[in-house]
Amino acid sequence: MQDNIDVIIIGAGIAGITTAYYLQKNFPGVSYKILDSRSSAGGTWDQMKFPGVRADNDMYTYGFSFNPWKGSIIGNGADIRGYINQTANKFKIKKNIVFNTQVSALSWKDNLWTTKTDKKNYTSQYVICCTGSRDRNNPHLPKFKGESKYKGKIVHTQNWGDTDFKGKSVTIIGSGCTAITMAPSIIKEAKKVTLVQRSPAWIINIDSQEKSSRGYKTFQVLKDYISSRFFKKSLRKKIIAADPYYNDKTTPSYDFWDQRPASSLDQDYFRAVESSKVKIERQGVSNWEATGVKLQDGKVIHSDLTVMATGGNAQLLGGIDIFVNDKKINIHDTSWYRGMMFSGLPNLFAHAGYINFSWTARCEIVSQRICKTIKYMKKKELSTCTAKYLGEKTTPSIQANYVLRAMDKFPNRTYKFYQNYFVEYIIFKLSKVDDGALEFER
Ligand SMILES: Cc1cc2nc3c(=O)[nH]c(=O)nc-3n(C[C@H](O)[C@H](O)[C@H](O)COP(=O)(O)OP(=O)(O)OC[C@H]3O[C@@H](n4cnc5c(N)ncnc54)[C@H](O)[C@@H]3O)c2cc1C
Repeated sequence: MQDNIDVIIIGAGIAGITTAYYLQKNFPGVSYKILDSRSSAGGTWDQMKFPGVRADNDMYTYGFSFNPWKGSIIGNGADIRGYINQTANKFKIKKNIVFNTQVSALSWKDNLWTTKTDKKNYTSQYVICCTGSRDRNNPHLPKFKGESKYKGKIVHTQNWGDTDFKGKSVTIIGSGCTAITMAPSIIKEAKKVTLVQRSPAWIINIDSQEKSSRGYKTFQVLKDYISSRFFKKSLRKKIIAADPYYNDKTTPSYDFWDQRPASSLDQDYFRAVESSKVKIERQGVSNWEATGVKLQDGKVIHSDLTVMATGGNAQLLGGIDIFVNDKKINIHDTSWYRGMMFSGLPNLFAHAGYINFSWTARCEIVSQRICKTIKYMKKKELSTCTAKYLGEKTTPSIQANYVLRAMDKFPNRTYKFYQNYFVEYIIFKLSKVDDGALEFER
């Protein structure tokens, strides 16, 4: 069974809902479906259920501009999921979502894309992949020797399920955003918490009562990011001098904003680590023992539960196999056109976020650029648009492990993909669709 529609969207998270909103706004009467393997909308915010899960950046910029967030400056996971669903209902997007549908392949032939799913299939002129940046089935799980010896439970934050931590001795391995938000939220009910952090992270504090606006936050975050690039050493000194938390053991080896900083809310993390129930170990894991992990200095950290807050594995296009005229495409062999298309893949668009700014904000400007491209094609009666293989060798946008681990999964060239919202906002608005890097056919 196969239905022909105008646009197939894959993924019903922030990107999928944003895309649908702008498609409806620009093309009243457009026929589209959003296919998602989950049973509910929200993507990341439907999957992540670990205690303390919340956004790291302010909701003024992380919320949709077309349905402003009404809660406090940092949203928690359940509230963000509710907000995404409320937005999908408000703009009558929900009825176009087809849940519980896993897309395994997309094939381009005779100027149409065809899905391969475990349910009904669709054909369409355009595909917009809103599949996120993470392998949702296989998180990053470093392997230490002797895992089978351990008698406790091991859980990755991505697959939290109904894991019980109450009254238990918990070890959290990892020093990123997840570990920093989780520790304060479990400390009251856990028996004790040990944080194993091989390398400390920069942590900023956010005041939950702060009131601001989308415009001001956009300006402030980007100003801070840009100045951190120009004044790396002096900024580092300034932060260390101003915050007594940083000492020889807690100061990261990398500069501020070389990786996305973690955030503490109303000092919750800093208070948690002062508690007698919390201990921080600043070294790597050597192997598993029956009662917990053994650190490199030989000390064993006894625990009933070990939480792997070790991050995700990057994945583009949701693990979908892509075929163009029966030829399987390796995304690594392509060029990434403006962070929204891949060379050689006609009429296929895909969202990717920033490492230094709100994901939603980029989804909005990319969605508008996609609509501008489709409008141009309609006006000129063109049926296909394909990015050329142009650009520079792809380099890591940030020195974070999850990016460095995934370089062979990204396109090997990048054409005009700026990690800067202001620059892209202006370029997407002002630059011509027919910019010399796209090939069009009638
Ligand atoms: C704890 C946490 C905090 C974060 N905080 C922030 C923050 O403060 N600011 C920020 O900018 N970003 C943050 N992020 C990053 C976050 O992932 C993005 O902001 C955003 O949620 C991604 O939305 P998305 O719709 O692009 O992708 P996702 O939320 O990943 O949704 C993708 C959807 O596509 C579906 N899908 C994928 N592949 C297939 C397939 N083959 N077939 C069918 N369905 C498929 C999935 O089921 C999923 O529902 C955070 C991430 C985490 C984990």
